[in-house]
Amino acid sequence: MSAKQFTPTAFPEKAQALVEVCHFLGARDWAPATGGNFSVRLDKAHCLITQSGRDKTKLNTDDLMVCNLSGRALDPALRPSAELALHTCLYQLDASIGAVLHTHSVTSTVLSRATEGDLHLQGFEMQKALAGNLTHEDEISIAIFDNDQDMTALAECVQQRWAQNSITQPGLLVRGHGLYAWGTDLAEARRHVEGLEFLFACAWQEKLREHK
Ligand SMILES: [Zn+2]
Repeated sequence: MSAKQFTPTAFPEKAQALVEVCHFLGARDWAPATGGNFSVRLDKAHCLITQSGRDKTKLNTDDLMVCNLSGRALDPALRPSAELALHTCLYQLDASIGAVLHTHSVTSTVLSRATEGDLHLQGFEMQKALAGNLTHEDEISIAIFDNDQDMTALAECVQQRWAQNSITQPGLLVRGHGLYAWGTDLAEARRHVEGLEFLFACAWQEKLREHK
């Protein structure tokens, strides 16, 4: 396929599905003030991603753009968000990742700031919403990275921890910033966002109770 054919309109079903996920996550208030960005893989070298600065509750397929996994927009008139670097990093690390959803929820922001090291969770039925988890009994860890305005440096930190096999769940937190969750397709990635946000809300409420 030529670069010319790589426009959102060439992928109407994926574009529409991505817009619907944006509306759903935006309505949950997980991408306020035009924050967050959401993408779906098109093939081994390209993804479709939301343009930056768009209201996620209102966007449509015209607000999406096609980028290659080197971080370049195929339409030269468009400039991708700096956060594209973490999406492309994840797609390159694992060929089975089909969608990456990045949210800015209040809970993920405060919980990651209040947690030293990684976040450890155990005993929650909702852990089973995350692919590969079959019981509430296992302790699971969500990797937390310090925030960095240099997204390339942040992506390198993610690559390093991925190589060490220390990212074991389909999501990671950036401290004081938000969640990146992924899945084999948009539906699974969305389930992971919902499951993780639920778990974060539980963990935060428990933390508050401990400090009363
Ligand atoms: Zn962000």
